[in-house]
Amino acid sequence: MSDEREVLSIEPVRGDLRADCANCFGLCCVALPFTASADFAVDKEAGRPCGNLQADFRCGIHANLRERGYPGCTVFDCFGAGQKVSQVTFGGEDWRSAPGTARPMFEVFPVMRQLHELLWHLTEALALPAARPLHGELRRALDDVEGRTRGDAASLVGLDVPRLRQQVGELLSRASELARAEVPGRRRNHRGADLIGGRLSGADLRGASLRGAYLIAADLSGADLRWADLLGADFRDADLSGADLTGSIFLTQSQLNAARGDAATRLPRGLDRPAHWAAGVASAPAADSDASAGSRPARPPRAGGRTAGGARGGSGGGARGARGQGAARRGSRGRR
Ligand code: SF4
Repeated sequence: MSDEREVLSIEPVRGDLRADCANCFGLCCVALPFTASADFAVDKEAGRPCGNLQADFRCGIHANLRERGYPGCTVFDCFGAGQKVSQVTFGGEDWRSAPGTARPMFEVFPVMRQLHELLWHLTEALALPAARPLHGELRRALDDVEGRTRGDAASLVGLDVPRLRQQVGELLSRASELARAEVPGRRRNHRGADLIGGRLSGADLRGASLRGAYLIAADLSGADLRWADLLGADFRDADLSGADLTGSIFLTQSQLNAARGDAATRLPRGLDRPAHWAAGVASAPAADSDASAGSRPARPPRAGGRTAGGARGGSGGGARGARGQGAARRGSRGRR
């Protein structure tokens, strides 16, 4: 099978789903909390501006986020929610010059991010030729979610997002089934599986469901993940060097950014090789098995605010795209 996704047809749609930090008021650097950890150097509560956020809403350490202890910021992706909230919901009025907008703006942002994440995945499902029988439903869901993103702040905050995510998630599951049904042979089901530290080097995971699986620090070097459903899979520190991800379904840039890989990792169309992936990332030798390793790293939390991994059951997290030049870069945050 080849990666037959109709990428060209969805790329214009996805243009609005890529972070444009030049038109955002630093929302991810203020609205979301983070905890001192391997991903963030300090604690920060929701609604308090990060100490590195400058007056012009750029990040003061953008060029050195990883070195300065903020790799989590290079992973987060708002899916274009930042500019939508800043420029559409609040009409270009920023929270610094209009402090009365701060609280509602910070409440709306995480809601909008989830809606944009759903839009991202729905556009992908619409581009899957095998999912054509569902295109009517997918299109209606896309239009419904898009319409909700254009509501006012009160309607956005009042949305039952978990219910909406569940409805869209079921539709995406059906699209995934149709797409993966074309993969020959046995398709493994690791949905929601705990594969932390798993030895999956060279594993045949073609067409597998890894939806919501915990793959933190798993060794997936050389694994065949073509046409695997990767929605919400947690790839933090997973080794994807030499793995084949072409045609994989519902993979996001932030999931890739959270993983390790190398020049030999094959990516699905429309996603970029993370800048921090060095050629020849080392990975431990392991058997071709879906069993977890004996020594397993602890599972770090990923619910709540910004995390370095993708949000479970839905889609990835993200990091702020660079402001100004390259502002529309997907995947990494780090305001300039
Ligand atoms: S990108 Fe990260 S370090 Fe920079 S201002 Fe935003 S939250 Fe702070």
